[in-house]
Amino acid sequence: MRVTVVGAGYVGLVTGATLAERGHDVTCVDSDLPKVRMLEAGGVPIHEPGLPELIAAVRKSGRLGFGADVAASAGGAEVVMMTVGTPTDPQGRADLSSVEAAARTIATGLEGYAVVVEKSTVPVRTGDRVRRTMERNVKPGVEFDVASNPEFLREGTAVEDARKPSRIVLGVPNARAEKVLRRLYEGSESPILVTNVETAEMIKHASNAFLATKISFVNAVARLCEKSGANVEEVARGMGLDPRIGAQFLRAGVGYGGSCFAKDLEAFADIASQLGYEFRLLREVQAVNREQRAHVVDLLRQELWVLREKRVALLGLAFKPDTDDIRDAPALDVAQRLRAEGATVRAHDPVAGAKAKAILPDLDLAPDPYAAAEGADALVLVTEWPAYKALDFTRLRKVMRQPVIVDARNLWDPAAARAAGFHYRSIGRP
Ligand code: NAD
Repeated sequence: MRVTVVGAGYVGLVTGATLAERGHDVTCVDSDLPKVRMLEAGGVPIHEPGLPELIAAVRKSGRLGFGADVAASAGGAEVVMMTVGTPTDPQGRADLSSVEAAARTIATGLEGYAVVVEKSTVPVRTGDRVRRTMERNVKPGVEFDVASNPEFLREGTAVEDARKPSRIVLGVPNARAEKVLRRLYEGSESPILVTNVETAEMIKHASNAFLATKISFVNAVARLCEKSGANVEEVARGMGLDPRIGAQFLRAGVGYGGSCFAKDLEAFADIASQLGYEFRLLREVQAVNREQRAHVVDLLRQELWVLREKRVALLGLAFKPDTDDIRDAPALDVAQRLRAEGATVRAHDPVAGAKAKAILPDLDLAPDPYAAAEGADALVLVTEWPAYKALDFTRLRKVMRQPVIVDARNLWDPAAARAAGFHYRSIGRP
């Protein structure tokens, strides 16, 4: 099928490349010209394992191309996927300006029947707005349908997730659009769930909100563990063995971050409120998550007493391992909190340093974890990159000024850290 993907970001590139791998003829278009030029020249603007290789392979086969002209690319496409960003606006609402702009431009370009798909995460009822906006802008006689096909991929494992999604949700207004989207995923072994558009939109927000709730729940339990001598890892294991609960997303730590959870919870709570229901549970999930970031700094204060003029080594800047995405990364929040208290921060991350510096230009970056720790009064681990797991405590101990570790992801074995002479604090473990 001829497919146009509008928005060549984390979701758009992975979606475009995996659809091309399925045999479709895909063009990824983006309004960011430098990004398009980089892609055309064979570069990949994001860090995502397996993506450069996949893009190279499907480009060679001639099934993936790039462009900047959304309208021209949409004309002649059977499916147009919208994968533009949907950040939070200053009022806490989903900023749908990119979706609106994309919908208008796509509409002007359509030449014949196409299914226009919301893949971006959007509040329930956005599909209706997209359809009305497009109706005002299409050429006379051109037919289209608006569908929702939410994306569930996780950065870091996005390529595998897109190849074998846990489920394919097709929110469609009619059988004609369903038929088109079923063809798009023909041959996939993933379960396909066909719903109306509103239900599909709601499935995405509800899923992310539920996952965030699990994280805040276990973090609240961790706080209780810290006060009672229980061990949150064992509590989580004991809970997770119950198939009704499940073991995933029950890891205590600094809380969730990234481009999705915070903004999707905010947007979900906001649309609920607009529709006349106060989703208070979500507000509490957000509050617990905020407190957890502050708690990490508090643990450091408990050890160092005064943070002013202390040197802190910060390990990990990306919001999670295996990505360079620093949107709403807990590490940046922790760094700013430390600096606000007069501490100096020297950070290391295997890939996200440059993107973090674009946000915090005066952030001091070290070339490796040991250089970050040189002369530090404490080391705070915020992102559990696998490479950090094997750090040499004895060597760290030698280069640091004071032997203090706050492990905000429970990456290390407390006994090993203490055996190397560290005052070691983690989340919810005695
Ligand atoms: P992103 O910021 O990486 O990419 C969005 C791209 O859209 C950018 O390259 C931008 O230049 C482009 N764009 C914006 N307006 C445009 C327009 N009018 N025409 C053409 N291009 C335009 O964002 P992302 O992380 O890929 O997320 C996209 C959507 O997918 C969001 O709604 C997000 O919530 C959702 N989502 C993201 C993930 C994830 O892990 N990143 C997972 C599931 C769903």
